[in-house]
Amino acid sequence: MNEVKAKKFLGQHFLTDEGIARRIVESLSPGVERLLEIGPGMGVLTKYLINREHTDFHVIEIDRESVAYLHDHYPTLDVIEGDFLRQDFTSLFHDTYAIIGNFPYNISSQILFRVFDNRNSVSEVVGMFQKEVAERVAAGPGSKTYGILSVLLSAFYNIEYLFTVPEHVFNPPPKVKSAVIRLTRNETAALECDESLFVQVVKAGFNQRRKTLRNALRQLNIPLDTVPEPFLGKRAEQLSVNEFVTITKAIESCR
Ligand code: SAH
Repeated sequence: MNEVKAKKFLGQHFLTDEGIARRIVESLSPGVERLLEIGPGMGVLTKYLINREHTDFHVIEIDRESVAYLHDHYPTLDVIEGDFLRQDFTSLFHDTYAIIGNFPYNISSQILFRVFDNRNSVSEVVGMFQKEVAERVAAGPGSKTYGILSVLLSAFYNIEYLFTVPEHVFNPPPKVKSAVIRLTRNETAALECDESLFVQVVKAGFNQRRKTLRNALRQLNIPLDTVPEPFLGKRAEQLSVNEFVTITKAIESCR
């Protein structure tokens, strides 16, 4: 491990605690049959995943040195060398798949937005993020950290904050604490409103989170007269997923 110089720009913080690695791996639902690990690095999670029975398992890693290390140590493993954010995995799995990882923190939000975009393919996510991102994703209405990703993801996933991980179990240690969360796809096949408009409404609402919806949604340039008054006087952080759906439906009805 020491001879490997972590590359900061790739968000490389290698987990050194085997107990935590096992705990992350054991957080995956037992029924998962197709699995993608993002950013395996030196394989601290991979070595527990590779022996999972009946699992079609692939990893994607951007860093050439890590890829070479994985090829050497796990010759039967399918290591895709590339950027998770630029790959399409539908042809790889042909069906829904789960994602696991101690993720590169510099692209946490982008990973989560991609999960949202691929919500009909991604059945589950078990992953480590910065604690602050994990809390934001798991937050509910009324909390200060409740935001765009909390609403978008909880529309389609059950979100659980599993446990907090201290800085010193990584090499090099990050500046902040980490946390492991689990997202499990819920029963919602589709929202009862135009989903792209829903995303626009949620984003506009939180982009100016201190303003009432009446003011925050002005940037969308759409008539709001069909949106019930009590909603317009609230701020985005006070609204549940269902309330955002109701608001989106109301906007649609006057288009
Ligand atoms: N899972 C390992 C490594 C975590 S560090 C462990 O727990 O020790 C994050 C890893 O993600 C690094 O190996 C880094 O090279 C990789 N990575 C960074 N950006 C990536 C991207 N866009 N696509 C795939 N892997 C990426």
